[in-house]
Amino acid sequence: MGAAAVPVMAVSSAPAAHAGGGAVHTPPRDAGRHRARPRVVFGHVLHFFKDPGDPPDPTAWELFEDGALAIGEDGKVTYAGPARDLPEQLRNGAETIDHRGRLIVPGFVDTHIHAAQVDVIASYGKQLLEWLETYVFPAEAKFDRAAHARALAGYFLDRLLAAGTTTATVFPTVHPASVDAFFEQSRQRGLRMLCGKVLMDREPYAPPYLRDRSVAEAEQQTRELIGRWHGKDRLGYSVTPRFAPTSTEPMLAMTGRLLQEHPDLWLQTHAAENKDEVALVKKLFGGRSYIDVYERYGLLTKRSLFAHCIHIDATDRARLAAAGSSVAFCPTSNLFLGSGLFDFHAARRSKVSVGLGTDVGAGTSYSLLTTLNEAYKVATLRGKTLSAYRGFYLATLGGAQALDLDDVIGNFRPGKEADFTVLDFTATETLARRTEVAKDFTERLFALMILGDERAVAATYAQGHLVHDRDSGRALT
Ligand SMILES: [Zn+2]
Repeated sequence: MGAAAVPVMAVSSAPAAHAGGGAVHTPPRDAGRHRARPRVVFGHVLHFFKDPGDPPDPTAWELFEDGALAIGEDGKVTYAGPARDLPEQLRNGAETIDHRGRLIVPGFVDTHIHAAQVDVIASYGKQLLEWLETYVFPAEAKFDRAAHARALAGYFLDRLLAAGTTTATVFPTVHPASVDAFFEQSRQRGLRMLCGKVLMDREPYAPPYLRDRSVAEAEQQTRELIGRWHGKDRLGYSVTPRFAPTSTEPMLAMTGRLLQEHPDLWLQTHAAENKDEVALVKKLFGGRSYIDVYERYGLLTKRSLFAHCIHIDATDRARLAAAGSSVAFCPTSNLFLGSGLFDFHAARRSKVSVGLGTDVGAGTSYSLLTTLNEAYKVATLRGKTLSAYRGFYLATLGGAQALDLDDVIGNFRPGKEADFTVLDFTATETLARRTEVAKDFTERLFALMILGDERAVAATYAQGHLVHDRDSGRALT
């Protein structure tokens, strides 16, 4: 495993799965404001400074096979480097956590997922527009009950943490209570999360039981939610028109006004996922393209994120890049719904920022490792490839850059918030065997990217606090 020659001093002798003993098992209630004893985590440490590109440029990352990650009492990184070079003052008095033999990476960032679709994952036999009507809208309608919204928000966050995901930009439903439930529970767990009330008001594409009654009411609810949650602890508000077909022109115009008024808000929506959807947008809005419709209403900003963008052209990419807007690449969803093959390489060549999205429930897994496995296959179907280094960049710093959050998360530069995920190369027999015969770290990392899933996530930490422990069999919330 390449974990030899780690200094033995100051390292707990407890089994790695339970390293740290009772102290780290304290539930991280209100971890955003909680100060804890400094800690040092030992293991393989990997993080990125930029997109490694293709072929991967080794100056884009740092790998410390006998590494240490130190976290201050404020939950921020104080050191990431070789264990032997850890400064004495960071070691002294610190709690030590032993993950030697495992891989420590920044917490995964999911740039597109629906908290209200947990119960329709794996629903049979439809493409996008029919799938929404048949499965998704009835499931989202249940979120008019606050108790249901709270219960599913907790379940959803547990799934994210079990998958090693510590930040996501999340679609709830049209109901303000769904936003409150999600943010309340994210705040309780000390997580950095983005979310915002879904806006949908266009007949007949937004069904009557799940439709904003007016643009004025939707705006009022959105402004109240922004006041309640935006910038509170680690939470940020993302204005969330579902997609063009469920939006009237006045709703899109209101969305653009809000973004202009508050440039620090995020925007999330869907774009050009499916050919029938693209044709519908052309019929409803006219214009040069789907992206052109959003641009018309001022929705292309540095903090805008468009899920899918499969059926776009070079002009659209240039417009997205010029605005600094980002795309969420959701391969499990795109394959499941038969939407198409996203051209990741064309997007990056055009300097469009790209993150990975699971897009549960159209996506078939909460795991960004599983998502990378499918991203690799989409790349190969397009005659390209996706290296493990570029893959792990996408799941970490790439996602943070897509969300314009790379000043606070995404890698282990000192001062960054210490969200991280601990991955286990021996999680399954197949992965363990492939790891054992791998000739170098690059091969091991690729095997983890292709064969890994939630089983490979040994532990997840937010601001240095343990928030998921695989071997305890529960999320620590
Ligand atoms: Zn989606």
